[in-house]
Amino acid sequence: MSDRKVNDSTGAVHAGAKREKPHHALTEPIVQSATYTFADTRDLREFMDAAIWGNADGRVEYGRYGNPTVAAAETRLAALEGAGDCVLCGSGMAATTLTLLAFLSAGTHVIITDDSYRRTRQFCRTFLKRFGVPCTVAPASDYDALEAAIRPETKLLVSESPTNPFTRCLDLQRFAEIGRRHKVKTLIDATFATPLNLRPLEYGIDLVMHSGTKYLGGHNDLLAGAVCGSEQLTGLVRKLLGMMGAVLAPQQAFLLIRGLKTLGLRIARQNENGQRVAEFLESHAQVERVWYPGLPSHPDHAIAKAQMCGYGGVVSFEVSGGLEGASRLVDAVAIPYIAPSLGGVETLIEQPALMSYYELEPEDRLSVGIKDNLVRISVGIEDADDIIPDLEQALAHI
Ligand code: PLP
Repeated sequence: MSDRKVNDSTGAVHAGAKREKPHHALTEPIVQSATYTFADTRDLREFMDAAIWGNADGRVEYGRYGNPTVAAAETRLAALEGAGDCVLCGSGMAATTLTLLAFLSAGTHVIITDDSYRRTRQFCRTFLKRFGVPCTVAPASDYDALEAAIRPETKLLVSESPTNPFTRCLDLQRFAEIGRRHKVKTLIDATFATPLNLRPLEYGIDLVMHSGTKYLGGHNDLLAGAVCGSEQLTGLVRKLLGMMGAVLAPQQAFLLIRGLKTLGLRIARQNENGQRVAEFLESHAQVERVWYPGLPSHPDHAIAKAQMCGYGGVVSFEVSGGLEGASRLVDAVAIPYIAPSLGGVETLIEQPALMSYYELEPEDRLSVGIKDNLVRISVGIEDADDIIPDLEQALAHI
């Protein structure tokens, strides 16, 4: 398991940070520069030679190839994740799509599990197809089906854990072992977990990605994406990032670092709030079903308990009264905001049928398990003693 020497909250504040920073600043300086200068031609040539051999020691010549504030955030995240390296991008989707493009080419094949972020599945099924990369969607919990879907040309197995929105949790050791046996790289989107609740690399997963927009930033004020793994693998993503240009801006990296420092506190609170809200909802007569890995009724509770340090703040549930009943609940809450996204300090609530899946016909939504009466709540860091009574009064409106 983890060989990190400090506890999670300490790691969240300090992991990977240099103690001596420019100008003796305590916080990471924002290096707001698009380009970098050279003293003379000799300096330039020395840098170019070092860059070719990979020992430029973090020095870059242009903002698309790197930035010191972004690099500081990358080092911190890699340390928290227990990874050799981390590449930050301008959004979670930039991290996902660049990683897929870095490992796939015409004639190869990718497998993605079914309850994954819709845009990721959409990218695999539509965009990659245009470039000669077929995609198979396999059920998240069926390891035999997953293995049966592997072809000689399969290059990547992709899943989330926990998944969005049903918080399905994969047996990561099993997932990684299937990949290794077939020489297929494994990629886990662990956005819902964060490195404080789950570190997929410890189970043999090759690459882990995050939408930093969610828990890592934590304040609903930035977009960021991260992919972590060995330097050999992330190097392919970094190289592509330098060509595609979906870079993280230095101010966003600064905000991400600031968010990371309180990750331990926030995650502890969100784990606690998530569990309490899930238990409350499960006991309520107007709630038909609750999906939260911390509940013994969740299909993956046992594996979640074995792998995770906490279950996060996202709770999905189905209420009585169909689409309208769910809307009456959503409209009656006072504390949560109606908004997409998750993982921030503010509690957010949404009906997936009217948000991420709105453009689909009801039968197409149902084919991926999204019922009209499904509600997803991302519990923030408010007091559960306020959130639960608010949900209780809102449930009375159904
Ligand atoms: N992965 C998961 C699990 C998500 O929920 C999201 C966004 O909702 C993404 C990836 C994409 O991240 P971003 O919005 O930062 O591009």
